[in-house]
Amino acid sequence: MPDTFTGSAPGRVNLIGEHTDYNGGMVLPAALSIGLEVALMPRKDSAVAVTSNGYDAPSIRDIDDDAVGEWSDPCVGAIREANAVGMLGGGATLDVHSTIPEGSGLSSSAALIVAVLKAARAAAGDGPNDIELAVAARRVENHYIGVPCGIMDQMAVALATPGTAMALDTKTLDYDLVALPESYEMVVVHSGLTRKLTDGRYSARKEECDAAKRFFGTDDLCLLDRATVEAADLDSIPRRRALHCLTEHARVKFALAAMKAGDMHSVGALMNESHASMRDLFEMSLPEIDGLVESAVEFGALGARLTGGGFGGCIVACLEQGRRASWLERLLAKHPQGRFIDAVGA
Ligand code: ADP
Ligand code: MG
Repeated sequence: MPDTFTGSAPGRVNLIGEHTDYNGGMVLPAALSIGLEVALMPRKDSAVAVTSNGYDAPSIRDIDDDAVGEWSDPCVGAIREANAVGMLGGGATLDVHSTIPEGSGLSSSAALIVAVLKAARAAAGDGPNDIELAVAARRVENHYIGVPCGIMDQMAVALATPGTAMALDTKTLDYDLVALPESYEMVVVHSGLTRKLTDGRYSARKEECDAAKRFFGTDDLCLLDRATVEAADLDSIPRRRALHCLTEHARVKFALAAMKAGDMHSVGALMNESHASMRDLFEMSLPEIDGLVESAVEFGALGARLTGGGFGGCIVACLEQGRRASWLERLLAKHPQGRFIDAVGA
């Protein structure tokens, strides 16, 4: 029997800063207690054989297979990347165990790829550091799977620690781990709607941002001046996408300062503003999710917003500790398709 090596990564919830991570801006994700583990056995041949608690039948692929829209694509891509950076010399047998719901904006794909790369690094005995590993994991999503995502998910699941939020500058990859304030928690509730990032809507938003980037001659929409964007002779769609990006980036900075000062009422207000911007300017929400966010606030959250890539998935709400049970009871009575996922606090 060849040796088995393990790798793990948590899910993450983004507290604020959506679609800023490929537009030169900041994000503020936090590690969840739900997560994913991978057991990896290196192989001498080029097969990638995967079993998972999420799927009944095993998947047997080859390291040279292209992505075909199957659940094992991230595993094949990660093993190929592990070969490319010299951590493996062939295929692998993988067993995945996860408690992160898929397609819900909690980064199951990034957790899977990072966990496979961490297991491969353990097999190699050495290799890239965690930041380099996150960058390699993003390459798998961008170039192998074909999801044009930014670097937030990979950095968060490779480096964030429970009970802290990661204030990440996605342009420089500088980050700060900030303690979540005591007496409050960030509660993640699933809307009951799932989506696939490969379904095209995420890519459409990326292309609309690219149109704005071309117009302004910059990669960093988040760093543009608001008045400049408002005055520009630019179509309404790219203008609104750019306005979301630059205001969302500003909100991350305000939220970070407020969180450090323990001012969670301001953090909550910024989360509400973020949701309105995602709904009206970036158009990445759905009516059911808007309703869930509205009820979350009506029933006592300091603020709430859609989290993740959009078009389904989860909301995150800021609550005072001790209020969760009664809040959830009212929320889920009104939105029976919703379900509690996790909560993060100090
Ligand atoms: P998310 O928002 O959860 O990252 P994605 O659509 O980006 O959603 O990624 C989901 C994909 O990640 C699945 O289609 C599958 O390929 C992979 N995946 C996630 N969890 C598992 C698991 N437990 N076992 C195998 N593959 C998984
Ligand atoms: Mg993903």
